[in-house]
This record gives sequence, C-alpha cells and structure tokens, in this order.
Amino acid sequence: MNIQTLAVHAGHQAEPAAEEPIHPVAPAIVLSSTFQRNADGSYPGGYLYSQINNPNRAALESTIARLEGGSEGIAFASGSAAMMAVLQSLRPGDHVLAPLAMYYGSRTMLGAIFQQWGLHTTFAPMDDLEQVRAAITPATRLVITETPSNPTLRITDLRQVASIAHAAGALVLCDNTWGTPILQRPIELGVDLVLHSTTKYLGGHSDLTGGCIVAAPKLNEGSRLTESIRQCQVVGGAVPSPFDCWLLLRSIPTLPLRVRAQSAGAAAVAGFLQDHPAVEAVHYPGLPSHPGHQIAASQMELFGGMLSFQVAGHRAEAMAVAAHTKLFTRATSLGGVESLIEHRASVEPPNSGTPESLLRLSIGLEHPDDLIADLEQALACLP
Ligand SMILES: *Cc1c(COP(=O)(O)O)cnc(C)c1O
Repeated sequence: MNIQTLAVHAGHQAEPAAEEPIHPVAPAIVLSSTFQRNADGSYPGGYLYSQINNPNRAALESTIARLEGGSEGIAFASGSAAMMAVLQSLRPGDHVLAPLAMYYGSRTMLGAIFQQWGLHTTFAPMDDLEQVRAAITPATRLVITETPSNPTLRITDLRQVASIAHAAGALVLCDNTWGTPILQRPIELGVDLVLHSTTKYLGGHSDLTGGCIVAAPKLNEGSRLTESIRQCQVVGGAVPSPFDCWLLLRSIPTLPLRVRAQSAGAAAVAGFLQDHPAVEAVHYPGLPSHPGHQIAASQMELFGGMLSFQVAGHRAEAMAVAAHTKLFTRATSLGGVESLIEHRASVEPPNSGTPESLLRLSIGLEHPDDLIADLEQALACLP
C-alpha cells in the first residue's frame, strides 16, 4: 500500500469503539484511567489501567510502527522520554557511540545523567566512517544516529553505519524526527530502533508533546531490548495522554502532504538564501553543494522541511535578522504548519559548538514566495 494511503487508514485498524452500535468515522477518545473487569476477572479488550495501555495509545503505536515498517511502537510523553527509556534499557558498563551533531537534549542526557549510571559514551562525527569504526569498542551496545541532524543538518549514511555497527555486535538507533517515515525509513536501511519526537512533524500543529520508539521486526526475535523499553514505558509511566494520542492520530493522515509541501518550501528557501550576499552558508541536504547531498538523495525521498543558515557576521547580526522577520515566528521547536526561526546558540549550552551566526528555520505551510519575501526584507536590515 502507498504510504499516503497507509497514513490515512492505519489509525483506524485498532478502532477502540469497534463493538459499539454507532460507528464513528473519527475514533473516540477513551479518557478513562481504568477499565472494568468481567465477572470471571478477565479484562475485555485486554485493557486494565490507562498507564499500562489505552486504546488510543495502542492505535497510535501500531500506526507509527506500520509507517516505519517496524513490528512494534512504544509511545512516550515526549521524544526525550523515549530516549531516556532506550538508555535506561542499557546496562552499566555498556558503551554508546553517539553523533557529535546531535539534538543537544539527547547529548546532555548522555553526559549529565547516564554517565553517572556507568554508561560510557563516545561522540564521533557520523559522516566520517573511519572515525565511527575506530570509536566502536567491544563494549559498544548501541550506536545512535540522527539524520538530518539538529541543527546543522549533517547526513549519516544509515546503511553504512548499520553494517559497521552490526559487524561489531552493536545495535543502531536512528532519531528520525527530522526525516519522518514519509521521507526516510531507517528500518529498511538496516536500523534496529527508530526514535521520534512526535511533538514535531507527526503532531505537526505545535499543540502536543510526545515521543515514540519503533522496533525493527528482526529486533524482536531474540533481543531483550524492546521488552526492556516497553517495561520502562509501563513501569516508568512517562506515557502520552489519550487526548495527545488522539491528536496525533488526527494529524498523521495529513503527514505525507505536509512534509512534502514543507520540503518543497525548504528547497525554495534554501535556493534563495544560497544566492544572498548577506548569507555565508546554507545547511540544507537538498543543495548539491551540501557534503551529504548524495547520501541524503540515496536514503530520503525529499530533503525535509528543516534548514539552517549562517549570516555574514556574528550573534548580533543573526539576532537582528530574526528580529526583523514578520511571517516567521521566533520560537523553538519545528515541524508545525507555521514557519519558525530560531537562534540556536542562545538556547544551547555554551559548549554546543553551534555557530553564533546560525539561524534555524522550520518551514511551515505558507507559500514559499511569501517566506522568501519575508527573509529578503529581514536580511535587508544588515549593512
Ligand atoms: C525535539 C527533538 C527531540 C526531543 O523531543 P521532545 O519531544 O522535545 O522531548 C529529540 N530529537 C530531535 C531531533 C528533536 O528535534
């Protein structure tokens, strides 16, 4: 089935109210925190307590798993909670190889929280396969990738990294938040675990926080990791609310149309910025000049709705451009229908390495011509 059709219909597979005499076309929200037992003590439908499982969450998990070609989805209250559960499923003494170019929250988690638990992390540039090979040790249990990466849009060759990791007996996780299952399906490229901050493109309307882990079918045969992540979800309880699951299921049918339009918009904006005299660099994998362009083209359908660029100058110049935009909203996050602009260095820790002159754009669903006109007038504030 075409992924565009799957996105519309997958959420209805596990329709919670299927036995009701009325058949709503949009699924019902099951807000109940607890479920009544039958006289014999059994639970109709298998639901016991909403923290353990809920019909809206079950429908969401199977939908995202199907979009990614995985065997199981495990939903969380945020993308960060999903990453926490994966790392909590590792053991003291295990080694994690993580990308240098990575969402700073995940990097902080590895450094500030899991280091003291005895999890050792090495950060390596994932676009340098020699360094990836050299950084793997006999204790390496997990290789984390994020492609395109936040906020500099570095590209990781998922097939190559998966084969290097597997040869060393390690598993590979891909943070596919920016790629989305519409543009990039890491499991098909050999990855074992896919992570999403569903707060971003899957939610798509900047009105919820959520996360999800999808396990590859091969992982479920003989790996305790999926079971352990599921246990972290159920016992740890960082679960999404039924309403947030319902909102996500409401958003997913338009995901293919949204990300394809956002990708087209980002490509147009990147082309405009590349030719602008006040712009020093544009980071967008759709540009042939991008160092990861060929690899991105081989593993993505389109290049996504995110880009970043560096203005000629430093922090003050970047801040001034952001201050002069009228259509772009100055806010963090991404993947919503409205375009956002953000000066990343000022929200990341001082050692993050993100250039002070860098602005990150999340392209929404406005007409690209209007977005370009807005950036043009904002860039005109520079001398
Ligand atoms: C936002 C983001 C996260 C964290 O997700 P939250 O839902 O904000 O906790 C992780 N990875 C990437 C690439 C992100 O953009």
